[in-house]
Amino acid sequence: MRPVRFNIHPKEAKIETAVSMAEAPNGYSGEGFFTAKLSDVVGLARKNSLWPLPFATSCCGIEFMATAAAHYDLARFGAERMAFTPRQCDLMMVMGTISKKMAPVVKQVYMQMAEPRWVIAVGACASSGGIFDTYSVLQGIDQVVPVDVYVPGCPPRPEAILDGFMRIQDLVANESIRRRNSEQYKALMESYGIE
Ligand code: SF4
Repeated sequence: MRPVRFNIHPKEAKIETAVSMAEAPNGYSGEGFFTAKLSDVVGLARKNSLWPLPFATSCCGIEFMATAAAHYDLARFGAERMAFTPRQCDLMMVMGTISKKMAPVVKQVYMQMAEPRWVIAVGACASSGGIFDTYSVLQGIDQVVPVDVYVPGCPPRPEAILDGFMRIQDLVANESIRRRNSEQYKALMESYGIE
């Protein structure tokens, strides 16, 4: 039997080591002032406060549950606020096999999310249909919504999901605040039939 451990002698935590600080964006600082690009400051805030919408349909969803639990602790990235209300989320994480019948639902959920929004395809099924090369399975969610990051694996380990999440953070931090108004972005949305 595993011994039961009680946390009766917690280590004393120092505030300097217990709190991790986000890296400041590049800028100019002097005595009593700091200036940076608005885009970088907005990116910093967005990057560290992503709200995921877990769209989990099968096994990869279980790996995501492990990613969110204490050991891997997605909360370290400021992303512990998961919700199933698309209007409050900005990161759709699709994890699992998506049937063709389910595809319009994925698209509808995506369209209900407010801009700016990002998408991760977690695992082989969401990325490409995986082993299910059949008449009923969507061969990748990028057939219905634009995907920003693909996480390979069947299933990907939580470390791989975290890596995918950090790639999204890089995209978010470096995205220009004007990108969503650009002609290229509008053309991308139009190619998916999204206005
Ligand atoms: S990629 Fe593999 S583990 Fe993930 S949902 Fe598909 S079959 Fe399951």
